[in-house]
Amino acid sequence: MAKSTSGKPAVADSGAAPRTAPAPSDAKRAAGKRVVRVKAAAPAATTPRSAAAKAPAPRAKAPKATAPKATAPKATAPKATAPKATAPKATAPKATAPKATAPKAAPLEAAARTAPAAKMRPAREPGAIPASLALGEADGVGPTGRPRRTFPAPPALDRHGPARILAMCNQKGGVGKTTSTINLGAALAEAGRTVLLVDFDPQGALSVGLGVNPLQLDQTVYNLLMEPGIAVQDVMLKTDVAGLDLLPSNIDLSAAEVQLVNEVAREQTLRRVLAPVLDDYDVVLVDCQPSLGLLTVNALTAAHGVIIPLECEFFALRGVALLIQTIEKVRERLNPELELEGILATMYDARTLHGREVLARVVEAFGEKVFHTVINRTIRFPETTVAGEPITTYAPTSHGATAYRELALEVLAR
Ligand code: ADP
Ligand code: MG
Repeated sequence: MAKSTSGKPAVADSGAAPRTAPAPSDAKRAAGKRVVRVKAAAPAATTPRSAAAKAPAPRAKAPKATAPKATAPKATAPKATAPKATAPKATAPKATAPKATAPKAAPLEAAARTAPAAKMRPAREPGAIPASLALGEADGVGPTGRPRRTFPAPPALDRHGPARILAMCNQKGGVGKTTSTINLGAALAEAGRTVLLVDFDPQGALSVGLGVNPLQLDQTVYNLLMEPGIAVQDVMLKTDVAGLDLLPSNIDLSAAEVQLVNEVAREQTLRRVLAPVLDDYDVVLVDCQPSLGLLTVNALTAAHGVIIPLECEFFALRGVALLIQTIEKVRERLNPELELEGILATMYDARTLHGREVLARVVEAFGEKVFHTVINRTIRFPETTVAGEPITTYAPTSHGATAYRELALEVLAR
């Protein structure tokens, strides 16, 4: 596997300007491609990626700034929802009885439709959880309750492309789309694949998560979509991870949603602008915004596959039926190649019965579409956002980094 560190010198010496300079414009014009200066945001980091420069600055702050805030609500959330979780019990018989015939009609859609919160509890009496799931990860059994699978390291490539485009999509916010885009992308790059990440959310979280300040960008995905003379290379930024490039976004992109309405073939705009670079990449990951609007339809129209990150919590399956319907409509009308690549369970906590129940329900609903790899809930992920880098470089030996590496192998094996 190519080490991510191998790309760092290339980034460090590619800019004409010093790395601490705040404006990206000078360096980016130096070599045709622009440079992500991740460390520009960290005041002390003059020698780019040395452990000494990196470790104290962001990490020391991370626990103070984000960890307590992030953990506090999350720790209380299950408690807060627990009483609610009991409420649906009373209504469950009403809700589930009439739907009992639905699953036969359309497997995935019906499964998702019949999986509202109300049904979840009654379907899983305490004793009904398979021993494997109750234990979390028993010998030979993975967290999804299926036999554990390992995926082979992919063969080395002597040439790249054409890219497989994967849309990371779920209209629910905060389910791990952006986190998964960054870390799956970085893990694929570590595995020797060339990867382009497309920030397709006007909130620009993908860009922020890779250390880019969206407010300082003068060319973004918005310009690429809306202005005829702009090419991917004009907008693209190289990240500190070798083989991982980024098309960044900021709030400008929200205007595209409205302006695209008047375009000819408006749903095909992303597909059209990406086409010229597809031979340069093995994988393109599109981080969708939390809606099923025109931008998301563009992502689905450009994509070969959709990965649906699902948070392992009570309302996880809400809205998934609508998403699956949208995917099916796009497949019928715009993009016959589109496939549901997989469902990725995120923010899983094997220590809670609740987490295990939700995951069991997701596997019940989607079967083999659920990735064997499951992403655990850990504070390391919010920390990586503060650090502005993937977990594979921020905490390379962590469970989270290992999980995304496994996911990368699983995606390549599909
Ligand atoms: P989305 O893009 O779907 O809105 P994000 O990837 O931005 O979701 O994640 C929402 C929040 O949850 C972020 O603060 C992120 O750091 C955090 N997060 C994501 N994945 C995990 C995880 N596995 N464990 C803990 N926190 C996570
Ligand atoms: Mg996001």
